[in-house]
Amino acid sequence: MRKKQFKTESQKLLDMMINSIYTHKEIFLRELISNASDAIDKLYYRSLTDSTVTLKRDEYEIVIKADKDARTLTLTDNGCGMTMEELENNLGTIAKSGSYDFKKDNADQNEVSVIGQFGVGFYSAFMVSDKITVKTKPYGSDDAYIWESEGVTGYSVGNTEKNGHGTEICLHLKPDTEDEKYSEYLDEYNIRALVKKYSDYIRYPIKTDVTSSRKKEGSDEYETVTELKTLNSMVPLWKKSASEVTEEEYNSFYQDKFYDYEAPLKAISQRSEGLSTFEALLFIPAHAPYDFYTKNYEKGLELYSSGVMITEKCKDLLPDYFSFVRGLVDSADLSLNISREMLQHDRQLKVIAKAIEKKIKSELLKMQENDREKYEKFFSAFGSQIKFGIYEGYGANADNLKDLIMFASSKERKLVSLKEYVANMKEGQNAIYYACGETVDRIAMLPQVEAVVEKGYEVLYFAEDVDEFAVKMMQKYDDKEFKNVCTDKLDITTDAEKEEIKNENDAYRDLLDFMKDAIGDVFSVRFTNTLGSHPVSLSSEGEVSTEMEKVLSKMPGADKSMIKAQTVLEINASHSIAQRLKELYAQDKDKVKSYAKILYAQARLIGGLDIDNPSEISDLICSLL
Ligand code: ADP
Repeated sequence: MRKKQFKTESQKLLDMMINSIYTHKEIFLRELISNASDAIDKLYYRSLTDSTVTLKRDEYEIVIKADKDARTLTLTDNGCGMTMEELENNLGTIAKSGSYDFKKDNADQNEVSVIGQFGVGFYSAFMVSDKITVKTKPYGSDDAYIWESEGVTGYSVGNTEKNGHGTEICLHLKPDTEDEKYSEYLDEYNIRALVKKYSDYIRYPIKTDVTSSRKKEGSDEYETVTELKTLNSMVPLWKKSASEVTEEEYNSFYQDKFYDYEAPLKAISQRSEGLSTFEALLFIPAHAPYDFYTKNYEKGLELYSSGVMITEKCKDLLPDYFSFVRGLVDSADLSLNISREMLQHDRQLKVIAKAIEKKIKSELLKMQENDREKYEKFFSAFGSQIKFGIYEGYGANADNLKDLIMFASSKERKLVSLKEYVANMKEGQNAIYYACGETVDRIAMLPQVEAVVEKGYEVLYFAEDVDEFAVKMMQKYDDKEFKNVCTDKLDITTDAEKEEIKNENDAYRDLLDFMKDAIGDVFSVRFTNTLGSHPVSLSSEGEVSTEMEKVLSKMPGADKSMIKAQTVLEINASHSIAQRLKELYAQDKDKVKSYAKILYAQARLIGGLDIDNPSEISDLICSLL
C-alpha cells in the first residue's frame, strides 16, 4: 500500500471535526448508513438507464456486523463502490463530497435525493475508532481497492481482493475508558436501537445479526438462533399522502413514538413545495403531559433530513403558544449547511416554522368550527397556553391568536369564541362584557353579573388568572372594547335612569361621604341602579381592577401598595337598605358607621376578596342582632 498525507488543511480539520462538530458520538453510525444508502441510490439511478446494471431493487442492502473479539464493527453495502481515483478524492480530501458533485451533475433528475453533501460524515467514525479500513469495488469492475487510516496521521491506499461490488467499512473501535464504553457499539441491542432512532426510514433494508431463542421443532426445548434481520421500517408514514394512511396507523405511530397512552385529538399531515420543500406530520395530543405547565417541559419537533433523523427536539420549529404540538418535519433542503447537527439557526428552518404555525392554526380553527366537542377537549388541555401567548410579548401575537381562545359565557354556560360573542351581541351593545372570579359558578352569582344578564346581555366568565390580562393586551376585538361588568362603566341604562341616579347621589352626598370616612379603605361610596335585587357590590375605578389586584398581589415580591385597586362600594338605590341608611343618617350616625363597615365587608366577600378585620365585623353584626 502507498502511504499518503491528507490533503490541504485536512489534518487540522479532521482533528476539529472529530472533537467538536458532533455532540453525540453515536451519530457516526447514522453517517455511515447514510453514505451506504447514498451509494446504493447512485447505483440504483444508474440501473434506470444502464442495462449493464442488473441488480433488482430488492437485492440492495446494508449489513452491519459486530465482532466482539476483534472489537470491530463492519458496515457493508452493495452500492456503487468507488474507483481508486474516487477513493482518494472522496476519503483523502476532507470536506470533499462525492455526493454533492453527483447531485450537481444530476440536477435535472428530480428523483435524486442522496443524503450526503458535506464530505465530513465519514470522518465522524474516528470519534469511536482508532483505525478504519475501507474496501471497495466499483460495480462491474474486477479490481478492488483498500483505504486505511489511523486518523490525523494520514492514510494508505492499495489494491485488494473483495467479494462482490460495493463498499465495506471496518471500524476498529477505540479501547474503553472510564467515560466512554466504545464496546457498547458492538452490542446487538444498541445497534438495533441506534438504527431505529436515526435511520429507521432509510429506503433500503439495514440488516444485522439478531439473536433470539425459539422452540425446537417437535420438542419442548429452546434453541438460540442468530439470523440476519432487517431493522428499519423503511417507509416513512409522512411520505405517504394522508388519504393512503388510516386513522389507526396515525394513532399508533403517534402513541409509539411519543409514548402516549391516549390517541391524539388530531393528526395533521402537511406537504410543502415551493419556498421550501418539506413534509410534516404533526399531532395535537388529547391531554397535557404531566409536566406541560412546568419549566421542565421541552417543546420541539423531530427534525429529519431526507428521512434521516437530525434532532429529536428542534425548538425553533414551534412557537411557545403551540408548544403542545408533537411531531416531525422532514426536509431535503436543510442539508445545505455544514454539519447535520448545526442546523438550528438555518434560514430554511424559519420558513418551515412559519408554514407549520399557519397550518396548526388553520387546523385548530377548522376543529373549532366543525368538531366543537373535540375543540373543547383541546382547549381545556391547552387553552391557557394560548391565552398566555396572547399576553406574552406585549400582545405581539394577540391578533394572530384571538380567534382560538374561548370563554365560558352566561348563555347556556357554554364556551364561546369572541367571534361568536360579537355575532350575538344585542342591538346597540358596543362592548364585550366580562366578569372575573374564582369559578364560573361564583362569577355567575355576582350581583353586577346578574343585573347585566337580567337585562339580556351575554357576559363572559373569566375564571383563570390569565384571562383578564390577555384581553387587556388585546385591547379590542373587532373594534369592540372589553368591559368588566364589575368595574367599568357599562352603557346599559337609559338616559333617564342615568339622570335619576345622578340626582340621588347628589342629594345624599353627605351620607355617602360619611360612610366612606367610616370605612376608610374605600375610594368612594355611591348609589347605583344596576344591581338588580342585590343590596351591595364592589367596583373599582382606574386601570387596576379588584381581580387584577388579587392576581398581582399573589405574585412573589409584589409591592402591594403600588397595585391597589380603587374600590368603590355600590349600594342598590332601590333596595330597602338604601332607605334604612337614609333614615339612620338623621337619627343615629354611629349605627350608620357600623352599617357602612358591615356592608363593605359583605361586598368584599361577595367579590371574593379578604376582609382585614373579621372579628370587628363579627362584633358589629352581633351588636345589631
Ligand atoms: P458526504 O456523505 O457528506 O458527502 P462523507 O465524508 O461522509 O461526506 O463522504 C465523502 C464521500 O465519500 C461521499 O460523498 C461519497 O462519494 C464517498 N463515500 C462515502 N461512503 C461511501 C460508500 N459506502 N460507498 C461509496 N462511496 C462512499
